[in-house]
Amino acid sequence: MPTTPPPHPATRAREPGAATARQPALAERVRGLGVALGLDAVGFARAEARPEASFLETWLARGYAGEMAWIGRRAAERMDPRRVLPGARTVIAAALRYPGHERPPAPGPARVSGYAAGEDYHEVLLDRLRAVASALGPLAGEPVRSRVYVDTGPVQERVWARLAGLGWVGKNTCLIDPARGSLLFLGVVLTDLVLPPDEPMSDHCGSCRACLDACPTDAFAEPYVLDATRCLSYTTIELREAIPEELREAQGDWIYGCDICQDVCPWNDRAVRHPEADPLALRERLAPRAPWAQASLSFVLELDLESWRRHTRRSAMRRAGYRGLLRNALVAAGNGGDRSLVPQIERHAEGDDPLLAEHARWALAQLERT
Ligand code: SF4
Ligand code: SF4
Repeated sequence: MPTTPPPHPATRAREPGAATARQPALAERVRGLGVALGLDAVGFARAEARPEASFLETWLARGYAGEMAWIGRRAAERMDPRRVLPGARTVIAAALRYPGHERPPAPGPARVSGYAAGEDYHEVLLDRLRAVASALGPLAGEPVRSRVYVDTGPVQERVWARLAGLGWVGKNTCLIDPARGSLLFLGVVLTDLVLPPDEPMSDHCGSCRACLDACPTDAFAEPYVLDATRCLSYTTIELREAIPEELREAQGDWIYGCDICQDVCPWNDRAVRHPEADPLALRERLAPRAPWAQASLSFVLELDLESWRRHTRRSAMRRAGYRGLLRNALVAAGNGGDRSLVPQIERHAEGDDPLLAEHARWALAQLERT
């Protein structure tokens, strides 16, 4: 457990001004600004070391992060936002719902997780949060320091979103807002401005275990604990090497990520039945778009590096890399039973890349059996 860092000199210097900042009216103006900028929910939590955040240490020690060694490298910062922004007093957490694919999900030939099939959420959400951050000083009437993160730094956005009252963390390890479900992009503004914290929300999963039972790879070590090394969102995106053979059939037709444990969550059904307005067309930008909304495996297997670059411009799908996406598509092709893909798979089997060649041979052997 990291020790608590000493207060930053800037914090002590700002204490008198901070008294003004504690007024709830200021918090409501900040929240109102976030909503006016298109954010669906904005909440506040005290910036401090929290026992919830230290769960990360146990998770890393159990090896559940796999090759994501970068998570462990800045673990101390992830557990205390004051190590990220010295003098931080408040975490402003924000959520923006994304539309995802229409439900119930139609199995397709090359399925892409709904969060990644539209415009890159980092850009959309970072823009909004930067605007909130730059308004804090003028709203408070004093200089304010802040930093903004959307999966872009050593901050556990989900932990802070829960503490800020935006939802609870479900057994599927996603933040669930009872009104909006779990298809949420989360981001935070760390600031030395003092704002009154919101109440964390209690857990409403109850006896449900739909997500745990539906996971095709048994990736949940226990409720609320994900072994990322078995999760398709890790094997198809973060993993750079071969996909473990015992997980390939379970991958089905997914070529980037997986939505199953969210698709089966009853809180998402409820949210889909009550769509919200989209006055700034943010959800329109985040909605699945061509070619990834309905890509065919043949299309993906035919991509060259240039066309991959073009089709993943301003898309979160860049993260898997060109080679990673082809590797995933070869596994999906092996699972799909479509023998018309054999000539394309054979080209990869005879190619120069040993990783792709091995996955292509696996796919051919699978098709041989069907
Ligand atoms: Fe399992 Fe898919 Fe959820 Fe990962 S994303 S835990 S593979 S259901
Ligand atoms: Fe919780 Fe059920 Fe949703 Fe899983 S599917 S997160 S158990 S409500």
